[in-house]
Amino acid sequence: MKYCRFQLKGQPQYGFVEPVAGRESIVRILLTPPEESDGDVEGLRSRRIEPITLEEAELLVPGRPSKIVCVGRNYREHAKELGNEVPTEPAIFLKPDSALLAPGGMVKRPKISQRVDYEGELCIVVGKKCRHIREDEDVRPYILGYTCLNDVTARDLQKKDGQWTRGKSFDTFCPVGPLVADGIDPWAGVRVETRVNGELKQSATTKDFLFPVDLVMRYITAVMTLLPGDLIATGTPEGVGPVKGGDIMEVNVEGLGTLRNPVVEE
Ligand code: MG
Repeated sequence: MKYCRFQLKGQPQYGFVEPVAGRESIVRILLTPPEESDGDVEGLRSRRIEPITLEEAELLVPGRPSKIVCVGRNYREHAKELGNEVPTEPAIFLKPDSALLAPGGMVKRPKISQRVDYEGELCIVVGKKCRHIREDEDVRPYILGYTCLNDVTARDLQKKDGQWTRGKSFDTFCPVGPLVADGIDPWAGVRVETRVNGELKQSATTKDFLFPVDLVMRYITAVMTLLPGDLIATGTPEGVGPVKGGDIMEVNVEGLGTLRNPVVEE
């Protein structure tokens, strides 16, 4: 199952995506949002349309999350590269929904930061309301699918403030998409790569997570209720670095395609 959210005749719609003549294309419109599917997106009613390739589609953020929960330092080598101790439990923080940005949208580099970094990440899309997921409980039924996310960060402000709200929360600092898909297995290992202007900067597999997806979801739901459509950014690998106006950032997650966003100076 693969879907996206896009603009059609002035209206946001969800569409099922399938290959048509070798190109990923929107072939059907969902008549109910995936967040209301209770986890069974395939079972939703849909209407066939004339195929639109993903390149021609005006893509939107692929959902309307009530919150974006992020895991910091979930890869050993990334924790070390910023001079931090390897954590013994997940560090979680929030990004506001006002930071969300569609595929292709421009990330605005704020004047008050001297260093803005890309952070390519695998992102979980929550499918069912959950709280206090038990130790012996399978987390998979709560996952609608996965997408790509760029946890853009004003690194200097993150360090200066000691807590991360300002550095992580500027408008446009949360590009996400283009697709949500369920055909990948982060436990088995999915490759996450980031390129800037075509040059490979980050490449790792989710097999190297310090805290796997099930542990992360138990940890978060011990604190807060996750709602359908909520996003969980699972952390970035080593190789983070700065961008400037004119750069093009690309986050690719194996099986989920590429999230591409240019950077502009504010
Ligand atoms: Mg991050």
